[in-house]
This record gives sequence, C-alpha cells and structure tokens, in this order.
Amino acid sequence: RYIFISRDSNSSVYRALGKYLLNTRKGDWKKVKPDSLRFNLMLGDRNKLPYTRLDHHVICFREMKRHCRCKNIDQFQWFPESFIVIPKRPLSLSGTVSQTLEPDSKIDLDGREELLKYGSSNSESQIWIAKSSSGAKGDGIKISNNIQDLLDHIDHQHQSYIIQKYLHNPFLLNHRRKFDIRCWVLLNSNQQVYLFNQGVLRTASESYNVSDLTNITSHLTNHSLQQEKSKNFGVYEEGNEMFYDEFNEYLLKTRGETMEARIIPQIKDIIKSAFSIILQNLDTRGLDYKSFQLFGFDFLLDDTLKVWLLEINGAPACAQ
Ligand code: ADP
Ligand code: MG
Ligand code: MG
Repeated sequence: RYIFISRDSNSSVYRALGKYLLNTRKGDWKKVKPDSLRFNLMLGDRNKLPYTRLDHHVICFREMKRHCRCKNIDQFQWFPESFIVIPKRPLSLSGTVSQTLEPDSKIDLDGREELLKYGSSNSESQIWIAKSSSGAKGDGIKISNNIQDLLDHIDHQHQSYIIQKYLHNPFLLNHRRKFDIRCWVLLNSNQQVYLFNQGVLRTASESYNVSDLTNITSHLTNHSLQQEKSKNFGVYEEGNEMFYDEFNEYLLKTRGETMEARIIPQIKDIIKSAFSIILQNLDTRGLDYKSFQLFGFDFLLDDTLKVWLLEINGAPACAQ
C-alpha cells in the first residue's frame, strides 16, 4: 500500500488525481493527513521544493532571453516580442521579484529601456499587452498602443510585469470570437515530456474588434474573466470551452485544414524547444525524492494558422 498526502486543496488537478488514486486504484493507495511526514507521493506544496525555479515564468522567460542572447538570435519565432518590466516603486519584501531573483540579476532583467528603444525605432503603430509575471485569470492585464501608459500602469503594481507584443490578428471562431488553446504537458522525473492528447479552446463570448482595446472580454479569453464579466458567457459554447473535435470541424470547413496536420505539429515543436531551454536549468540531482510537474501551455493561433506561445503555467487548472 502506498500513502499520499495532498497539500493543495485548491488545485483541480490534485483533486482529480487524488480521486483517481482512491477510487480507480482502490486498495493500492491511502490518503493521510497533509502534515504527515512519511508518504510515497505528495501532491502540492511545490513552492517549498527546489524545483520551484522551474514554474515561474519570469524565470523561464529569463532563460529564454539568455539563450537568445547566447545564440545571437532575436527571439523565438513562436514567442511574441516580450520585455520584463519591474515597477519603479520599491517592491514589498513579499513581492514576487525579491523572492525569486537574486538582487544582482534584477538590473540585467529589467527590459524597460530596451522596450522604449524598440518602440521608438519601430514607426508603425504597435499594440502591446502588459501582464503580471505571476498573476493569472487575466488579473491586472492591460492592452494599449501607448507604451508609456503601460509603464505607468506597471509602476503602480507590486510585482514584475511582462510587456508583450499583442497578436492583433487572431484566427477567429464564428461571430468573430477570439480563443486561446490550453494544452496540458507533463514533465516526469526522467525529464520526459508528454503532451496530453486533448486540449481545450477557451473562447471569448464577445466579437473581436482590434480598434477597441477597452472591451476586455473580446480580447482576453481567460475562463474566469469571461465567466465574471461577459453577459454572453456560455451562449456559444458550454462554459466557453470548445474541444479539439469540434474545432477540427470548424478548421476543416473554413480553411480546409486539420488540427493533426497543421496545428498539433507546431504545438509539439514549441513545447520541445521551450523544454530544451528550461531543462538545462533544472537540476534535481541529490534530492531525496523524485518530482513531476504538470504545465499548462497557452497558445494563440493567428489568422495565418501560425501557433504562438503566450505563457506557461506551473499549476494549471483543468477543464471539466
Ligand atoms: P494569464 O492566463 O496568466 O492571465 P495569458 O498570458 O494567458 O495570462 O493571457 C491571458 C489572455 O490574454 C490569453 O488567454 C489571451 O486571450 C490574451 N493574450 C495574452 N497575451 C496575448 C498576446 N501577446 N496577444 C494577444 N492576446 C494575448
Ligand atoms: Mg497564467
Ligand atoms: Mg493564460
């Protein structure tokens, strides 16, 4: 008999996994109190383990930037131009940045100057999206074609932000609706990577209009944001979720393409490249446990059917 504990009751993934162990694998597994010190499997509490450095996307992002600099490439072809910006106000001690970065790397990391230079050297109007480095569910996100406005917004925040080029030409569903694709990816203790064969499209329930950047529910497709803020939530798809089969039909009908032939290979390539960088920095040798982690990769499809990576989440929620 194996013993497991769960130290994160908020996680839908751990809940589902716990249920699976107790019901489907009945007899093999037993759950004990969260504070027990002996167990075979621990679900959650990832922030107290050294592999935390993996799941923070500022860190991943920093490694990607460093990799680009070393290899002398601009940025990845599948990742929108991005800059980390640290608020000018002093960060609180419990703030994300002071917690996860060594002080001397902060200067190296702040992309404010680089961003301003980039903005002034590109004359065509550009739209940018500012998102917090550790936020989720669309919290604190702002879209604008004025870089200074975004910087002012960030200077009132208590954590680092990423300012990323806004992909203004997304592939749209019926009623001109935007969506993003969430893929679940498992990294096991042998550094093998698995992509779950189902993913979910999170759809907007308002029509997309690139010239109105204030209508947030047409631009941000986060599930909870749509649920809270859109009066049309659930009108087009149950829970604003569409799965691959249905999307595949739409893709076939509108573009004569399939997920399998056109989209999934791009997704796999991006995941492989991203991990090839992250894994160089992951060292779990000498630890007295083996760890695994589930990641949530968020992708956006543009109207040429090119797949872009938006972010990687270290503790992804799962669709029903
Ligand atoms: P989080 O889900 O942690 O709030 P995301 O990076 O996934 O952060 O952004 C939230 C949503 O905002 C995405 O699902 C997508 O709809 C939209 N979005 C994010 N980045 C971009 C971008 N670069 N271009 C266009 N839309 C974006
Ligand atoms: Mg996120
Ligand atoms: Mg997301």
